[in-house]
Amino acid sequence: MNIFELDSPLMWAWHLTNECNMLCIHCLWPSGPRMKFQEELSTAESLDLCKKIADFGIPYVALSGGEPLLYPSFWEVSRCISDNAMQLKIESNGQFIDKKNAVRLSKLNLKSVQISIDGASSRTFSLVRQGGSFEKAVSAVKYLVEEGVDVEIVFVPTQLNINEIEKTIDLAYSLGAKAFLTQKTMYLGRAISNWKNIGLNNEDYAYISTVINKKIKEYKNMKILFYPYDSIEELQHYIQYPPASPLMMSNGKVILTTSIPYVVADVRKHSMEEIWERYKKGWRHPKVKEWVEEVSKNPEKLSLAHNFIDLLN
Ligand code: SF4
Repeated sequence: MNIFELDSPLMWAWHLTNECNMLCIHCLWPSGPRMKFQEELSTAESLDLCKKIADFGIPYVALSGGEPLLYPSFWEVSRCISDNAMQLKIESNGQFIDKKNAVRLSKLNLKSVQISIDGASSRTFSLVRQGGSFEKAVSAVKYLVEEGVDVEIVFVPTQLNINEIEKTIDLAYSLGAKAFLTQKTMYLGRAISNWKNIGLNNEDYAYISTVINKKIKEYKNMKILFYPYDSIEELQHYIQYPPASPLMMSNGKVILTTSIPYVVADVRKHSMEEIWERYKKGWRHPKVKEWVEEVSKNPEKLSLAHNFIDLLN
């Protein structure tokens, strides 16, 4: 898939809010309690954007944050996406998905709901996902599965929970999840300041691969995936094969990906056609190539990845 041959994106990655009830130690963003942007999109702006995304032919929207259910008009936006025949993925920490909300979610045009569960015990979960409840995350999965929703469990491995990855895969299977997704830990956002307690080495990843391969054989009807890139490897891949999915922050600014400090468009200023052209142009911009080369030599520079500046006039 070559994005330069596409007339519109394949997915719109939409950060609804930076607000979150948790303060996870590996969060890629500055998300947490009272951390929402002042200039977050209003309900009217979000609903207007939803229609523009639909009119532009984008088939799939992923809502995340922060915790997307904390966005004041989360339900209106989700409904609008569904009513306009776009598929929807919701990336949630699961803390606000009780029985009632699971039923409401099941009536949307959902591809899946991703719930983060970083451990197989309350103690480990709370060490990584500070301010969150393991029991609530597990209940969210149960309620969603009961309503027929496809649930993907996401596990971010760290030094604090790697020993529970196998048990967490077992838990995912016992809960009826459709998928268990894990990845290399990203050196980005809040993870950088906690790196000495969470960063893993090659031996750790070899252990994870062994567990994953064993569990793939054991649980044939649950997808088990390991995303093999860290922040730098992902950038090196993207610079050659950019994803067809602009990422919009909750203030309406559009970026290329979480680990590149350039804003390429703004939904408050640009049409969808302009946003897509600017996004593609961004990936070919010499400064983006330079950034990838610089962080490849010096990963510490990723601490500047969220000092966003405009790339194009
Ligand atoms: S990782 Fe997710 S749940 Fe945790 S603080 Fe960040 S946005 Fe919130």
